[in-house]
Amino acid sequence: MKPRILIVYTGGTIGMIEDPRTKALKPFDFTHLMVNVPKVKMLDYEIDNIQFHPPIDSSDMNVEHWQSIARSIADNYESYDGFVVLHGTDTMAYTASALSFMLGNLSKPVIITGSQLPIGEVRTDGEENLITALQIAADRDEEGNPTVREVAILFENYLWRGNRSTKRSANNFNAFKSYNYPYLAKIGLGISFDRDALRKIENPKPLEPRYELDTAVMCINLFPGLNEAILRHQLNTPGIKGIVLRTYGAGNGPTYPWFIEALHDAVDRGIVILNVTQCSNGGVKPNRYMGGDYLTGAGVIPVADLTFEAAITKMMFLFGMGLDNNEVKRMMLRPLAGEISEKTASKI
Ligand code: ASP
Repeated sequence: MKPRILIVYTGGTIGMIEDPRTKALKPFDFTHLMVNVPKVKMLDYEIDNIQFHPPIDSSDMNVEHWQSIARSIADNYESYDGFVVLHGTDTMAYTASALSFMLGNLSKPVIITGSQLPIGEVRTDGEENLITALQIAADRDEEGNPTVREVAILFENYLWRGNRSTKRSANNFNAFKSYNYPYLAKIGLGISFDRDALRKIENPKPLEPRYELDTAVMCINLFPGLNEAILRHQLNTPGIKGIVLRTYGAGNGPTYPWFIEALHDAVDRGIVILNVTQCSNGGVKPNRYMGGDYLTGAGVIPVADLTFEAAITKMMFLFGMGLDNNEVKRMMLRPLAGEISEKTASKI
């Protein structure tokens, strides 16, 4: 049996061409993309596609697009061995995180890729990325099960867990990295999987997609000079339910009484505030310094080594499930799709 793969083409640089007038890159349709990768036929897979109309630059990505990608996968889940999502790099890590939560009980590969250079350019990385993504989506282990049973990002030399990834470079071909989790596979002459890092699914259950996401969330980035009036204004944003507070280092913030009081007031009003570090590597260790300890005392939830992308999308997902704020706080520390290190989270 030939592997059956469904490609969901959303847009991104991989399929873009230059606007003759402005010279800016703009998304183009799927036929153009496939014409530029004749080698795909050498794979001898059965490949079908669904494409966004029109394809988009991923900076335009929103929750309706995530719902549509998740629906494309869920509606066709039984008919395919694996799924490849072609996507712009700018918001790829957000999409990967959101899909990992939306596709409950996922036990087939969902491989997201794109490229830094359009597929029509001589030195494009798109051809290699697309072909490797298809091969990974079709790969099976010795027992005949899919090798990858999660949402992952394939880019240049590595396969990363989607909800652990971050875009780290705007011009390097290795554009993504998981700073707190090992790669799932290294791509060289061959594809070498790290079996220990891959998600293990003992008894696959039927896919349980959940499409509801609540966008009443926002982010506050700490910086020296943030003043009380501006902070209070942000914390009083009408309708807000959840905030990711991007803190310093091991999860620290200022120790000034006005700062802690402002956060405490917001928590008392029922807002869920998460402590996520601005550092790419390492996580929040809230008791290490007084600043972190004060934040925890004010009711801010330290979320270990969650990426910002995973933290904000997980809050949208949990509020989307209709959970109350106490349940959201509890579930933030429980891994849903391998997004948080259990050992680190349980120490908090
Ligand atoms: N702006 C593009 C996008 O995210 C960048 C890319 O694809 O690399 O759609």
